[in-house]
Amino acid sequence: MKSLIRICFLICITTNVVLAKELPKNALQGSLIIGQNSHIDEILMNGKPLKLSKDGDFVFAIGRDYKETISITSIKSGEILDIHQIKIIPQDYEIQRIDGLPEQMVTPLDDEIIKRIISENNIIKEKKLLSLDETFFKNEFIQPTSGVISGVFGSQRILNGKAKSPHRGLDIAADEGTPIYACNDGIVIHAENDLYYTGGTIILDHGHGVKSIYAHMSEVKVNVDDKVTKNDVIGSVGSTGRSTGPHLHWGVMVFNEYVDPALLIK
Ligand SMILES: [Zn+2]
Repeated sequence: MKSLIRICFLICITTNVVLAKELPKNALQGSLIIGQNSHIDEILMNGKPLKLSKDGDFVFAIGRDYKETISITSIKSGEILDIHQIKIIPQDYEIQRIDGLPEQMVTPLDDEIIKRIISENNIIKEKKLLSLDETFFKNEFIQPTSGVISGVFGSQRILNGKAKSPHRGLDIAADEGTPIYACNDGIVIHAENDLYYTGGTIILDHGHGVKSIYAHMSEVKVNVDDKVTKNDVIGSVGSTGRSTGPHLHWGVMVFNEYVDPALLIK
């Protein structure tokens, strides 16, 4: 399955009907879908408006748990020009058991820790809602560090016997200090050395709600508001936060919907 599905609508002037020729008929759960149609002024996914650039670029996620079909509606001057259905292809997610984590990291009970986690989560939640006008997401993504894939997208983790939320990224195990590169052009919207769960953490904004997150870093080498170019060094692999060994957790999302990073670099 091609990771980055580039779509280009063609307009049929004679019939005034937008033909969604290049839109995929099928998409794997966890796909990032990028489209372009300069002839419309509104585009909806399942009835919800997507951000449309002045050149007609748009992007959306096929979430981990999306089922059956989604519909993409193209609108011009209030008139529906096309409704395209995409059939969702399910992924076969792994179940991963990790035992022997310090109990405090799995079920934090201490009030101070709970307060800290809530406060950190609220900051991250706000950052996820940001939506830059830039369209850096149109460029091809790269894998941000080299190493061994030690955790895949969508797997359900069972930590010390307790089912946790599914894994929202790709884990790349590498030696402590291995450089981490920006997976695409972007603006740094979050850079912290010590978050409770994710340790040294960076979030890059690639526009239209598309963001990448880098976690457990031993070093964070950028600051909020920095503009980074794909391949720039942004930090180093580490094992900070809730981690069992040096690795990069790399996540890619569109607002709150995470996609499978592995599909972006195949
Ligand atoms: Zn991870």
